[in-house]
Order: sequence, then C-alpha cells, then structure tokens
Amino acid sequence: MNPVSANPVSANPDPAHSVAALPAHPWVLEADAPGPVIELIDAGKTYTSGTIEFEALKGINLAIHEGEYVAIMGPSGSGKSTIMNILGCLDTLTRGQYRLGGTDVEELDEIELASVRNQQIGFVFQGFNLLSSLPAWRNVELPLVYGHVPREERKKRASRALERVGLGDRLDNKPGEMSGGQQQRVAVARALVGEPTMILADEPTGNLDSVSTRDVLNLFDELNTLGRTIVLITHELEVAQRARRIVWVKDGAIVRDEVNAA
Ligand code: ADP
Ligand code: MG
Repeated sequence: MNPVSANPVSANPDPAHSVAALPAHPWVLEADAPGPVIELIDAGKTYTSGTIEFEALKGINLAIHEGEYVAIMGPSGSGKSTIMNILGCLDTLTRGQYRLGGTDVEELDEIELASVRNQQIGFVFQGFNLLSSLPAWRNVELPLVYGHVPREERKKRASRALERVGLGDRLDNKPGEMSGGQQQRVAVARALVGEPTMILADEPTGNLDSVSTRDVLNLFDELNTLGRTIVLITHELEVAQRARRIVWVKDGAIVRDEVNAA
C-alpha cells in the first residue's frame, strides 16, 4: 500500500479541509508533557476474511519515546507489518488503543489521519514504492505536493533531501537508472522531505545487498542522532542490532523488549 496515493487530502483542494488548517504537530504542542510519542495499549488486531478470523496481534503493550531508535524484530508472519500499519495510521486496531503523541488515533477523522501520515510520519518500504516514470526529485517532492507546499520550495527541499542521502548528483535520474541501494536512498529522502517526527521503515534493507544495507542503516543512525524517532522493522538480527532497543515479536505478541547493548 502506498500511503502517498492513499492520502485523501490530495483529492480535496477545499481549503476547509486543508492540512494547513490543522496544527502541524499536535503532539509537539504537548511536548512538555512527559509521555511516549507512540503508545499501544492492549492492542489487538483480528483480520476477518469471510468466516475466517485470524488474530494477528494479541494484546500488545508498547511505548516509544521521541528520539528513540527501536527495531521490531521477528520471523515472517509474526505481525511486524501489522504493527507498522497500525503505527503509520494505515490500518486500525480491533481492540485496545493506539495513542500517538497522547492522542487516541480513534478520535481522528480521515482528514486528520491523512495529515498525520503526510506530515508526521516518513515511510520507507522494502519495495521502495517509487514512481518509475518520475525523476528522483519528483518522487521526493510528492509528500510536499500533497502538503500544498509551493512548487519552487518543493524542488529546493527535494534537492536538499537528496543531497542529504548522498544523491545530490542524481536529482534527474529515474528509479530504473539507479541501483537498489540508490533507489532506497531516494525513498529515505522522500520520507525525510516533510521533516516528520518519526520514520517507520518496514524491512527497508530486505531487497538490498550488504553494501547498500550498510549505507541505508548508516543513514538511519545519522537521522536518529539528529533526533528523529525511528521504528525499524526487520526479520534480520544483524539489521535489528543497529537499533538502540530491540522489541521481539512472535505470533502476534511481544516476547522480549531490551536495550541493545551491542
Ligand atoms: P510479518 O510482517 O511479521 O511477516 P504480518 O503482519 O504481515 O507479518 O502478518 C501477520 C499475520 O497476519 C500473518 O499470519 C498473515 O498471514 C496475517 N495477515 C496479514 N495481513 C492479513 C490480512 N489482510 N488478512 C488476513 N490475514 C492477514
Ligand atoms: Mg512484513
């Protein structure tokens, strides 16, 4: 699923529904209040198809504070992407609560959720999710298009984001003209361009060779050092060990939550 194209704000130019009408960072307004930026409370998710029910999350409790770098680690099918979709407001819980910056996301309407996804969360996916017909900078500016940022400003910020990931000389290259590692760095630039508080990455190195994996993980390190909250989802221990905290999931439950001493 592509959160960018799923953003209903883009289809609604009515200023009454403009994202600008909302506080840019609701939780920053409450930043003085101690408390986690992300909080799952007895969070459950049951998928239903026809008469078949599958309990993918079995009552998870998880708190992540601003500036943390957390890996969610577990085998295939353990519920990692389900967690990512919940944290990214791409899907909803069937029981329990998700509090984002102290706000129960269930209280937000579709427009507000779209604004949260667009302005506060940067997404990075295993499959890059770039548009192949557009040059790198046009891919990177997309979240700003949906955020109604003026054109000149968009190009400037997209260029800066690409420079930040080491692709300042590739602004006009299309995804097909770049390596997998470079494409993922374009995706990281796109995740960064809106200056989100939090980056959610689902198996971001899953399609990368070891050199590109190192590049992307180095980038996450830098971003975390600059204060970004990072949630990195992976089934690879080597990747998870780059985070400062590792949350282990198995069969839809957290089985271990530890500071990463490595
Ligand atoms: P992971 O990302 O750790 O591989 P997922 O969160 O994608 O795991 O999936 C967890 C479990 O939920 C799996 O058993 C998967 O088959 C199931 N699942 C995921 N999405 C759906 C869905 N839309 N409908 C039914 N079952 C699903
Ligand atoms: Mg997954």
